[in-house]
Amino acid sequence: MTIEQQVTTSAATAEIIRTTMVIGGEQVAAADGQTFEVVNPATGKVIATAPLGGKTDVDRAVAAARKAFDDPKGWANWAAGKRGRTLSKFAALVKQNSEELAQLETRNVGKPISGSRGEVIGASLVFDYYAGAANKIFGQTIPVSKPGLDMTLREPIGVVGLIVPWNFPILMASWKLGPALAAGNTCILKPASLSPLTAIRLGELALEAGIPGGVLNVVTGPGGSAGAAIAAHDGVGKIAFTGETTTGQEIMRLASGNVKKISLELGGKSPSIVFGDADLEKFARESPYSVFDNCGQDCCARSRIIVERSVHDQVVALFAAATEKVKVGDPLDDATEVGSLVSFKQRERVMDYVEAGIAEGANLVAGGRVPTAAGLADGAFLMPAIFDGVTNDMRIAREEIFGPVVSIIPFDTEEEALRLANATPYGLSGSVWSRDIGRALRSARALQAGVISVNSNSSVHTEAPFGGYKMSGIGRELGMSALDLYTEVKNVYIDLS
Ligand code: NAD
Repeated sequence: MTIEQQVTTSAATAEIIRTTMVIGGEQVAAADGQTFEVVNPATGKVIATAPLGGKTDVDRAVAAARKAFDDPKGWANWAAGKRGRTLSKFAALVKQNSEELAQLETRNVGKPISGSRGEVIGASLVFDYYAGAANKIFGQTIPVSKPGLDMTLREPIGVVGLIVPWNFPILMASWKLGPALAAGNTCILKPASLSPLTAIRLGELALEAGIPGGVLNVVTGPGGSAGAAIAAHDGVGKIAFTGETTTGQEIMRLASGNVKKISLELGGKSPSIVFGDADLEKFARESPYSVFDNCGQDCCARSRIIVERSVHDQVVALFAAATEKVKVGDPLDDATEVGSLVSFKQRERVMDYVEAGIAEGANLVAGGRVPTAAGLADGAFLMPAIFDGVTNDMRIAREEIFGPVVSIIPFDTEEEALRLANATPYGLSGSVWSRDIGRALRSARALQAGVISVNSNSSVHTEAPFGGYKMSGIGRELGMSALDLYTEVKNVYIDLS
């Protein structure tokens, strides 16, 4: 039975969904038959079980992916246009099944259903984009100093391991699968143990779309065993990873054995710099979502608001008033804007930061407590927290919290604002708010981060490169840049004499 059939049954009977991995075109259990439970963090109830994959399962998936890659009539050797058309069918199937996928995602990670719907459609658009890109992966001809003809070919790497986190499970999977598949690679996708459901469903839909068995394998299981086995496997040529910086560092070590290609999208501690001349109403209206959306579990969360002292009090008041309107509630309710955190453990971690902020002398202006509203008592909910009077040396200003907590830090000069913004080992994203175009552009250039927005919090565009400076990562996903991450460049020189 596919997940889709089980979801339909279980919606009526509240049964537990029993999922399987997808390896070599087949739905399989873990080799040793072990499973783990998948919990809905908004209710605390077990909603599914998934195979607890380990090294044997990874070996099996790598063998299936290798076989599919080496097939002379297989995916890598299809005409690029045919790969593109098949990816296009895949994108259409994701869209067609978007409500089922969104419900799965919301029940699995506690995010509002409106957010899950947007995420699933976003994933479908990413597949569409790379469907169109499949036959536009060009090489070059190069005027070398010898008289012959020199050209480059872009070739798929082979078997690639794609290890994704739980905060945007289906979207992060699409960012990697789209370009990897378009370029002709075969893939092993490993979702986070907290959020395996939509990844498994993607594996099933890929088969339905006509992507041959073995091209997209899905292995579920813990990072420390299944993930580590993929990262260390000699049969894998590349690892694309999104997750915590410390995990990324471990993956670099594991991947060094056979010198895998690596791309990493890691943590962030992104600033919003608000100058006194900015449209403060617009900033306040839009910015609560830039940090509290997805319950703050967003690598681009603007978790530090660095604000000019002359408008500091006004900004705090406007931001707090706008945050008060954000609707925290049942993730399955269409009106909910902030759902639960992904787990009770994550909530505990975030609440420890709230306590650390208070202990270090910051002023908790709002939130940071467990909501008392009926219906939320059994879930991992937390009211969005705003800290004022924060200095850059406090833990809440330095460390990635990955929860609904924002730190407001005052500044006096442009130079000080930029120094504070850049005083972090991370460099993923940031916003500049100012009506002075010169100052906005100067600041955008001076910020040491890969994704900057001016008078906006928008960080992600399917067509534009996304990725981090410093300890926020290596490589740029999305847009045509992502194709560089999944191709080798071969230079061919032809002697014409
Ligand atoms: P995580 O690092 O705990 O896990 C990510 C994935 O890695 C999971 O699939 C996990 O099972 C696997 N994993 C864990 N240990 C492993 C190991 N030793 N070897 C191989 N795989 C292993 O991250 P998370 O908690 O799922 O996600 C949150 C983090 O992701 C945050 O730090 C956030 O900033 C980051 N993130 C970054 C981006 C970005 O684009 N920069 C996007 C989303 C999330």
